Amino acid sequence: MIDQLNAILKDAEGTIAQASDLKILEELRVKYLGKSGAVTEMMKGLGQVPADQKPQIGKVSNEVKNKITALLDQKVQEMEAKAEQVAPAGWDPTLPGRRLTAGGIHPLTAVQKDIADIFRGLGFDIAEGPDLETDYYNFLALNFPPDHPARDAQDTFYVKDRVLRTHTSPIQVRQMENKKPPFKFIAPGRVYRNESIDATHHHIFHQVEGFLVDEGVQFSHLKGILNVFFQKFFGNEIKTRFRPSFFPFTEPSAEVDISCIFCAGKGCRICKQSGWVEMMGCGMIDPAVLKNCKIDDERYTGFAFGMGVERIALFKYGIDDIRLFYQNDIRFLEQFQ
Ligand SMILES: [Zn+2]
Repeated sequence: MIDQLNAILKDAEGTIAQASDLKILEELRVKYLGKSGAVTEMMKGLGQVPADQKPQIGKVSNEVKNKITALLDQKVQEMEAKAEQVAPAGWDPTLPGRRLTAGGIHPLTAVQKDIADIFRGLGFDIAEGPDLETDYYNFLALNFPPDHPARDAQDTFYVKDRVLRTHTSPIQVRQMENKKPPFKFIAPGRVYRNESIDATHHHIFHQVEGFLVDEGVQFSHLKGILNVFFQKFFGNEIKTRFRPSFFPFTEPSAEVDISCIFCAGKGCRICKQSGWVEMMGCGMIDPAVLKNCKIDDERYTGFAFGMGVERIALFKYGIDDIRLFYQNDIRFLEQFQ
């Protein structure tokens, strides 16, 4: 029996030394010292041992049991010590966890999406085009002759023989070239002007252009669509006003004012006491533009309008400096979540 006990001890020394994790050690503890463990079973057999051998065998049994217990405990301590070394220095498991912060949609993206949603509801498609354009699409096809003073009003960035589009209007030319009327789409996108930056100007900003061509389209359709748009965007109490203006690619052209959303038309600092704020440009498409794009200008008429997303966002959120949209100050952006 003593030989058997020593064999168990030898076996335990080997397996415990090789154990690679705490789970295996626990299994070994059960194997040797559990209710049906090898050592426990030996001790249960002590009753059948002759009386003169009992003290000796009992003593060895206890020694084996204590040695295995000590080996297991020592191995557990070694493993725990090792696990602590793996954790980086200065790591404090009692510190509270870091809060996960959720990202949000940039206010300009949100406004652009709201604008698109309203026009989509009115049956407009979405059209897109390249940021880098040729002079033809950005100017010439839109009725800006090479020496036209309107080109000066849109200070242009040139990239070799190309231009960074100064408006989203080149998209209408590309649409007319590739498809047949009727047309009914909006063209959102980033545009570029070589302007100095201040509270209301930036050299990169965003436009949404609207374009509709069909038989029998009149200025009253344009007014109707824009009335619906502004009332859906800013509220039913909003009024619109159309003032004569000039754009090379529309005739007649108009600026659209809306009743000031801050004072409901009574007059305030924002609207310079006039009760109106300028919101976008629009007009009936100049037949020359339709001709340039091989659209029958006897049969078809249409209108176009273009708005600055930044300007709409300034009014929607009551912000007075366009630069805030581009500084990526988290304290500013968090307010729009
Ligand atoms: Zn006002």
